[in-house]
Amino acid sequence: MTKEELALDVITRLKKEYPDAGCTLDYDNAWKLLVSVRLAAQCTDARVNVVVEDLYAKYPDVNALAEASPEEIEEIVRPCGLGKSKARDINACMKILRDEYNGKVPEDFQALLKLPGVGRKSANLIMGDVFGKPAIVTDTHCIRLVNRIGLVDQIKEPKKVEMALWKLIPPEEGSDFCHRLVYHGRDVCTARTKPFCNKCCLADICQKNGV
Ligand code: SF4
Repeated sequence: MTKEELALDVITRLKKEYPDAGCTLDYDNAWKLLVSVRLAAQCTDARVNVVVEDLYAKYPDVNALAEASPEEIEEIVRPCGLGKSKARDINACMKILRDEYNGKVPEDFQALLKLPGVGRKSANLIMGDVFGKPAIVTDTHCIRLVNRIGLVDQIKEPKKVEMALWKLIPPEEGSDFCHRLVYHGRDVCTARTKPFCNKCCLADICQKNGV
């Protein structure tokens, strides 16, 4: 089986296994996803979803977060860890949205990359989830799983994994495929325990099964 064929098979099986997989960060507005992805660095999505409730209760829109001081934002986001830098980035980011984009999130990958604290992973997530554009989100689950399955060969650097996957995954499938990898990585192909290959829907096509 070629890597392209393997990719299509994995996509089909994960779709069946996790039909409704989506982003596990809660948001009802693009700028809120921008805030949440910054807070999610080295923090669980579940914790971020709780912390942002307090944040938005006090600062309900882009203007309010742009006008707040980084210290005031840090007071609330501290439970997510790295509070100082996350607060600084969120404040700077909201100022740019307010001043340069009329309070909106730009629908442009390169423009997103220029925002403070936004890397390729976050920019891809926003392109895929908010704008419905092709996206490959190479988070820790994605990188671990595509290496184990054999879609890439010992590539750990996120951008290189992303570039390799662009060649294998049909563009319109990328965003949902990556969400499904997160679900599968949490439930079955786990990082901290031995993966549960005996109950994995990819067992007969995965190169790491049982190894
Ligand atoms: S067979 Fe095992 S290593 Fe391969 S994807 Fe499934 S759980 Fe992960």
